[in-house]
Amino acid sequence: MQPHVVLPPVDELSAESAPLKWGFALRHFTPELEAEYRRFTYQSYQQTRRAAIVLLIISIVAFMGFDLFLGQHIGNNAVTLPAMLLRLGALLIILFAASRVLKSPDLATGERWIPLALGSLSLVMLLTCVLYLQVLEQTHLPYGLEGMMLIQMAIFFPIGYSYRNSLYLGIATLLLTYAAVALATASALYVQFHASLAYLVVASIAAGAAGYSHEHSMRTLFLAKRALRNMADTDGLTQLHNRRSFDLLLQRALQEAQREQKCIALIMLDLDHFKAYNDLYGHPAGDVALQRIAGVLASNARRGLDFAARLGGEEFALVLHNPDRTYLASACENIRQQIHSGLAIEHLKNPAQVMTASLGACFNQADDSPSSLYQRADQALYRAKANGRNQVIIDDQKAPQAC
Ligand code: GH3
Ligand code: MG
Ligand code: MG
Repeated sequence: MQPHVVLPPVDELSAESAPLKWGFALRHFTPELEAEYRRFTYQSYQQTRRAAIVLLIISIVAFMGFDLFLGQHIGNNAVTLPAMLLRLGALLIILFAASRVLKSPDLATGERWIPLALGSLSLVMLLTCVLYLQVLEQTHLPYGLEGMMLIQMAIFFPIGYSYRNSLYLGIATLLLTYAAVALATASALYVQFHASLAYLVVASIAAGAAGYSHEHSMRTLFLAKRALRNMADTDGLTQLHNRRSFDLLLQRALQEAQREQKCIALIMLDLDHFKAYNDLYGHPAGDVALQRIAGVLASNARRGLDFAARLGGEEFALVLHNPDRTYLASACENIRQQIHSGLAIEHLKNPAQVMTASLGACFNQADDSPSSLYQRADQALYRAKANGRNQVIIDDQKAPQAC
């Protein structure tokens, strides 16, 4: 597991998120990054979703009051009863969806229920508009599309719904409103209808633009936060995890292994006679060598949760998940050989005449803390150094049964 490598470097990032780049808010990231972004926004909007649901319930109660007020005017024609029943059905769907979203904070629930709730909300309001249209002349009501303006605002309200989907739903709502209300409008109200429609179009564009700018900021914020986290976790020279990130990941890996009674192995690696290498070939050459060694370690972090880190100077670590004794021994030996014979970096102050490394490794024990595990691996490394360097020592005296 490498630091969050999907992310481009910071200067490329600022190009990608250039604030004026048209379509940025509509553009989706790569699927993996997009999924992370969706989780990030969904979590950020937890509070807003609660507020939106309260607002929704207040609006429903208000409209119900208005319905009662209009009661005797609404009358009874062929449209009234089916529209009322359909509206009731859609309203129940909205309330059910809202309760699901309130209960479970996970993204999958939101992705399932929010579109249904928003779609039903559009339908409820559209049916309400059609019902109210029938009594316009008797009641001197305003035209009635104002309710649809509220819906367009609700569709673009930041509750963790994807902006692209909001846009589709907003456009569909607008077209459907036009079609339904045009059919239901008496010809005497032709002018009012079009005037009201014009307001609705402008309100929809305004809601869509506000949503766009919000989505834009959220995507930029997400990339910036990710870049900062990436920088805080990564060693600048080798792009491996740094010491800070290593400490966190090791603690997490150890706790998980102890909880699930699995095992992890910690390999520590230190380059041999590296001070002499720097003295002979210069610091920049030393840096290049460190980068190449890092490449070897990274390529040996093969399984999903394995990770390599640079602990400082010319000292590295590799954590393997669920290795057995044979796998650990062959991983260590591979690394040693890949450095010694594979890279074969000339090092005339090393008895081997090329760059070599000493490795110490151990498995976790049931009662290990990160520091006790670290200490045992470090002692194994020390023994490898004391035994003459360019070798592997594995302390597997007390390896748990699982390994
Ligand atoms: P040993 O075989 O006992 O490990 O000896 P060594 O010379 O490798 O160990 P020592 O701890 O004496 O020297 C480590 C050297 O690593 C000293 C320092 O110059 C070098 N070093 C530490 N960080 C960096 C770095 O970022 N770049 C370069 N080029 N060298 C570094
Ligand atoms: Mg060294
Ligand atoms: Mg050292």
